[in-house]
Amino acid sequence: NTFAEIDLGEAVNLNIRRCKYVKPTPVQRYAIPISLAGRDLMACAQTGSGKTAAFCFPIISGIMRGNFPQRPHGSRTVFPLALILSPTRELSMQIHEEAKKFSYQTGVRVVVAYGGAPINQQLRELERGVDILVATPGRLVDLLERAKVSLQMIRYLALDEADRMLDMGFEPQIRRIVEQMDMPPPGERQTMLFSATFPKEIQRLASDFLANYIFLAV
Ligand code: AMP
Repeated sequence: NTFAEIDLGEAVNLNIRRCKYVKPTPVQRYAIPISLAGRDLMACAQTGSGKTAAFCFPIISGIMRGNFPQRPHGSRTVFPLALILSPTRELSMQIHEEAKKFSYQTGVRVVVAYGGAPINQQLRELERGVDILVATPGRLVDLLERAKVSLQMIRYLALDEADRMLDMGFEPQIRRIVEQMDMPPPGERQTMLFSATFPKEIQRLASDFLANYIFLAV
């Protein structure tokens, strides 16, 4: 089993080789084809399983191939195509670093926004344009309230460490965030939920946010 057998496209494959990834981890091997096939996914994944690449690769590949409506520009509001929600500043920074490597020379732009740090630098980065936004829930709600970000064009949503986000009390913010995505053609959003544990709160999130999803436990 190799990455070349998974149809991610030349540019992403080149970045995979640059990262020196030789073969997909188990979660990557199953999650990436499911996601490329357009299906929603709930996956059991621990830290170190390679889950970041599992959700980043299909998102980057999808954005490169997708034919999306023109996004408004020149406005102070940005319209990302993909959102990756993560519980902490550290994890967001880590996902951002990895996603930048995976999207090197693809034209896909990744920006990160997390709380506990001044917002101005993050706003400047956003204003330069964003395809994939990596964010913590609280900071994203702030950006939505300031109308700096619109989620109306989100086509890919990844929830990373969903159980930890709920443990940290982010459920109301997550629900507010996802509610803002349901305006454009329903069914056009693809959602991936990654979690280490599956208490009933997570199962409820999955049934509320995912459509006809595949549950992957590796
Ligand atoms: P994650 O679980 O996403 O935090 O990834 C854990 C570590 O494994 C990170 O340092 C990744 O860069 C690395 N990694 C992810 N996928 C692969 C792969 N297919 N081959 C080798 N290393 C990988």
